[in-house]
Amino acid sequence: MEKFRNKFIAFMYGRNGPDKLYRASVAVFMVLAVINIFVHSVILSVISWALFIWTMFRCFSKNVYKRSQENQAYLRLEEKVVKKFGMTKTMLTDKEHCYKKCRHCKAYLRLPKRSGTHTAVCPKCGEKITVKIR
Ligand SMILES: [Zn+2]
Repeated sequence: MEKFRNKFIAFMYGRNGPDKLYRASVAVFMVLAVINIFVHSVILSVISWALFIWTMFRCFSKNVYKRSQENQAYLRLEEKVVKKFGMTKTMLTDKEHCYKKCRHCKAYLRLPKRSGTHTAVCPKCGEKITVKIR
């Protein structure tokens, strides 16, 4: 067992190995494979196996620089998605404020929930926004 372990470590030397993108693509592969148990789609099967092969290729690739760039691109995308959904979760759970998007700079304004028509100033760009709260 120890011999096999050492051989594997030697094999993986200089290779990309598992990273965040690897874990995410394995998770997507698993989800697709489970869905395919029920739908039996050839197209879904081809897509999931292509994803699996690409994932393994990335894991064993010796072009670590290129794989690292792919992983960084994935991390930037993940951060955007988490930020977006984090804001949505806050909006859903916060009952004392309402959230309005600035038409000018797309920033979110957190306003106290007082019914009526109000004028707010965007702290980011200074645009005056008329807000109707029910
Ligand atoms: Zn603004």
